[in-house]
Amino acid sequence: DKEYPQNKLVHQYFEEQARTYPDTLALTFAGQSMTYGELNAKANQLAHYLMDSGVEVGNFVGLHLERSFDMVVSIIATLKVGAAYVPFDPSYPKERLDYMKQDANPALIISQQHLLSADVFTDIHLCLIDSDSFSQRIEDYPEQNPGLALDLDGPAYAIYTSGTTGQPKGVVNQHHAILNRILWMQDAYQLVADDCVLQKTPFSFDVSVWEFLWPLMVGARLAIAQPEGHKDPVYLRDLIIEQRVSHLHFVPSMLQVFLQQEAAGSCGSISKVFCSGEALPYSLQQEFFSKFKCELHNLYGPTEAAIDVTSWQCSPSSEQTIVPIGKPIANIQCYVVDPFNNPLPAGVAGELLIGGIGLAQGYLNKPELTAEKFIQNPFDNDKSSRVYRTGDLVRYLSDGNIEYLGRLDHQIKLRGFRIELGEIEAKIAALNNVKEAVVVAKEDKTGNQVLVAYVTCQEGVEKHDSQKILEAVGKQLPAFMVPSNVTALERLPLSPNGKVNRKALPEPDWSE
Ligand code: AMP
Repeated sequence: DKEYPQNKLVHQYFEEQARTYPDTLALTFAGQSMTYGELNAKANQLAHYLMDSGVEVGNFVGLHLERSFDMVVSIIATLKVGAAYVPFDPSYPKERLDYMKQDANPALIISQQHLLSADVFTDIHLCLIDSDSFSQRIEDYPEQNPGLALDLDGPAYAIYTSGTTGQPKGVVNQHHAILNRILWMQDAYQLVADDCVLQKTPFSFDVSVWEFLWPLMVGARLAIAQPEGHKDPVYLRDLIIEQRVSHLHFVPSMLQVFLQQEAAGSCGSISKVFCSGEALPYSLQQEFFSKFKCELHNLYGPTEAAIDVTSWQCSPSSEQTIVPIGKPIANIQCYVVDPFNNPLPAGVAGELLIGGIGLAQGYLNKPELTAEKFIQNPFDNDKSSRVYRTGDLVRYLSDGNIEYLGRLDHQIKLRGFRIELGEIEAKIAALNNVKEAVVVAKEDKTGNQVLVAYVTCQEGVEKHDSQKILEAVGKQLPAFMVPSNVTALERLPLSPNGKVNRKALPEPDWSE
């Protein structure tokens, strides 16, 4: 393991860069740019405003923002005052945002004028960061670092992810965990001032945390993609060329789409591509190396353990036809165990338990779930040491690397989005007339993975109305969690133990 300095928090590394290189470019976005000095001054003014508004160390600050300079300014300002930022993705429906607001109970929410047409966020201190009146007001606040003495154990961010009970759950991550993760990344990949990192991951996904903070901690440049731009491979290619992006992330399914377009290989500025979030198929790795001469890395980790916990550098000349997730990063331990938490030898598949400095504090307001998933470390005499049960099925290879094999439950990844099928099922089953609901991911006629729902209806209801069901859940769930199809069944197929036999579900009626 490595000992990284523990004397500075992530935003203090940034403040140091701003002091030493105030005129160096920190950000670019939509044809505009901002230097380190400007960014720090703006973040300081907002930080002073936050303190003035009663935000205290350990509070949450909700960010309801589109990708923009304001998003970065708000993240840094929040960290400067010792608060944790909570992404409120503006594309989420009102019901979900309301639930998250109630659950996280932020001291304040920062938003932008054009995002507030719906009646979200009543009864809360709302700061409209791009309004004229706010711009004027903020001018009066000091541009100096607030310089609070902050604790490494304080919370840095809380990210909501899908939950099995029908509501999302907030995962709270602390400064020491994110600091370790980024200092490891710098140690491993050595970003320099000339480098440029692309910020394109939606901020409600933890990969965005390194995209934001890594370059700003080491004095490199962050190129921010326009809102929605991350879905458009042609836009991304042009932006990479224009901004001379050297480091960027793709979830594998998006890398696939990116590689399919013509001239993807013309992005000559790229030196490192990082994949994470879902399995990286061997065939995709090979396709990547046929078009790119740069490095490809496969990182693995859940939101519950500060972004990533294992890493693997892909090799074009590898003899194995799999892409491992590699070995634990600094100050992280990985154990592969059977259902009784006994360690398993190399080659034998079991659940991955993660231990070490990267573990999240736990789930917000969910002590029981936290106790169930973050358990006492069976491999450590220290009683306070914990491990996180990932629910991922893996095995150790004989060379000490780990191979990812799949999930042990009904959590899936669809185009990089983490989805608990149980959350969608709970929402559908709660609708009037619906008795039971099952949701699975299937390939549609064009070969795309989509979500399909199966329902049985209450007695006396003749026919379900699939359109109504989809509309109703569309008001509650983000678009990526709304099934594309609902099939009504007389009864759900059961396996001998009485559980729903998902494999025996019929092919959906794609014509609906
Ligand atoms: P998230 O919390 O959204 O980061 O999702 C975490 C889950 O995504 C993990 O528990 C895995 O199931 C999956 N995952 C993340 N990275 C990888 C990877 N490199 N290979 C395979 N699965 C991954």
